[in-house]
Amino acid sequence: MKTEQRALTGWGRTAPTVGTLVRATADELSSDAGLSATVGARGAIARGLGRSYGDSAQNGGGVVVKLVPGADPIRVDHDAGLAHVDGGVSLDVLLREIVPQGWFVPVTPGTRFVTVGGSVASDIHGKNHHADGSFGAHCTRLGMLMADGSHRSITPGSDPDLWWATIGGMGLTGLITDVTFRMIPIESRHCVVDTERVPNLDALLEKMETSDHLYRYSVAWIDLVATGKHLGRSVLSMGNHASLDDLRELRPKAVDNPLDFDPTTFPDVPNGVPNVLNRLAVRAFNELWYRKTPKQHHGTESLTGFFHPLDMVGQWTRLYGSGGFLQYQFVVPFDAVDTMRTIVARIAAEGHASFLAVLKRFGAQSGGFLSFPTPGWTLALDLPAGVAGLGRLLTELDELVLGAGGRHYLAKDAFATPEVVRRGYPQLAEWKKIRNAADPTGVWVSDQARRLELV
Ligand SMILES: Cc1cc2nc3c(=O)[nH]c(=O)nc-3n(C[C@H](O)[C@H](O)[C@H](O)COP(=O)(O)OP(=O)(O)OC[C@H]3O[C@@H](n4cnc5c(N)ncnc54)[C@H](O)[C@@H]3O)c2cc1C
Repeated sequence: MKTEQRALTGWGRTAPTVGTLVRATADELSSDAGLSATVGARGAIARGLGRSYGDSAQNGGGVVVKLVPGADPIRVDHDAGLAHVDGGVSLDVLLREIVPQGWFVPVTPGTRFVTVGGSVASDIHGKNHHADGSFGAHCTRLGMLMADGSHRSITPGSDPDLWWATIGGMGLTGLITDVTFRMIPIESRHCVVDTERVPNLDALLEKMETSDHLYRYSVAWIDLVATGKHLGRSVLSMGNHASLDDLRELRPKAVDNPLDFDPTTFPDVPNGVPNVLNRLAVRAFNELWYRKTPKQHHGTESLTGFFHPLDMVGQWTRLYGSGGFLQYQFVVPFDAVDTMRTIVARIAAEGHASFLAVLKRFGAQSGGFLSFPTPGWTLALDLPAGVAGLGRLLTELDELVLGAGGRHYLAKDAFATPEVVRRGYPQLAEWKKIRNAADPTGVWVSDQARRLELV
């Protein structure tokens, strides 16, 4: 076990707090000299790769546990199509191992640099939520380290309450030591992708409604700076995994080594760069991105290019400068599409520099009490922290979202209030009862849990 005092933030680099960072394997943590000997009054929280945007994986004055994978961290059962993976393994490491064997993860977020434990704790969603649901929907077993130091192996059948309190439970029911989940069989490391420029929001909403069911993956990048007749103009990309037949037709050179997977990354953005993602730069970037996209294109893209383009630039979060940034993600039910229109118009009218806004349709819920995705439209946008008027705008958007029966994503949150979460998550009180039964002395706690009165 290694310990050090460290200032930690989420990916948005706001609100740092200092805690005791403990790096240990699951066995070390459950030993006599492990977690119970280390945790004090401020408790402990698990941390994966810190890709949640706010303060969910930090614990000021307390312990933050970074799980070190064990001796055999990835086991693949080819017959059953299952992966057994240690909670501290990243999707990057996992994909490098399973893609060459003809498998893909059931759900991936927009970055490979998240852990399997963090994927369960946030019940992450990907471009395939409308078709496949969230990560938790594909899990069949969890190994957990409980507050009293005991190990448990749970399934949805053996412990339904603890299971659904842990899927999306933000690490507050226990530490996820290992996960068994179903994988997707693939024939190649490419996707067949249809990309299309869509001139405005109404055209986009209609296009997604009528076409999403034809594709496993679908997402729209939306220009939240454009106004007037261009309001909501977007680049919509929809795709499926490419079969060998697809490659023969569209990319014959890739047929020889279809499952080679070695994503390249460029050097990290250095620390200390000023905020370059200001209003002017974002406006120019959005314009260029929209214009450079062909009106319609049918072709192949690598898994990396399609799912994780941002990973090519290491530590891109530093482009926002030392002030950091917020990500704001919410979902509203399908019948509240007018609220989505109002929100897009409101953000565009305000003129904040929003780079990389993403719109998508969610399908069925996983069943996690605090799991974010529910059927409806979801919008995620980045905004530089600390700009004048931001708090007022987000408070106004909160009211619109909640008034329409929507909610906010805890893994992206750095701004919500206890009231906003209570209203957005009607099962919160039920979740708290299960969580308190699993952890009666309140060992598992994070800065976010304190801020939002989750525990
Ligand atoms: C560029 C980018 C794109 C993203 N795109 C998406 C997206 O498309 N969809 C989406 O859903 N999310 C997305 N995210 C958010 C990200 O997927 C989640 O925040 C994810 O939880 C981060 O995983 P992590 O391992 O870094 O966990 P951390 O950020 O370190 O922790 C997140 C939460 O998980 C808990 N946790 C971590 N490990 C464990 C464990 N072993 N046991 C118990 N609890 C644990 C922590 O306590 C914390 O509450 C994106 C993030 C970035 C930076």
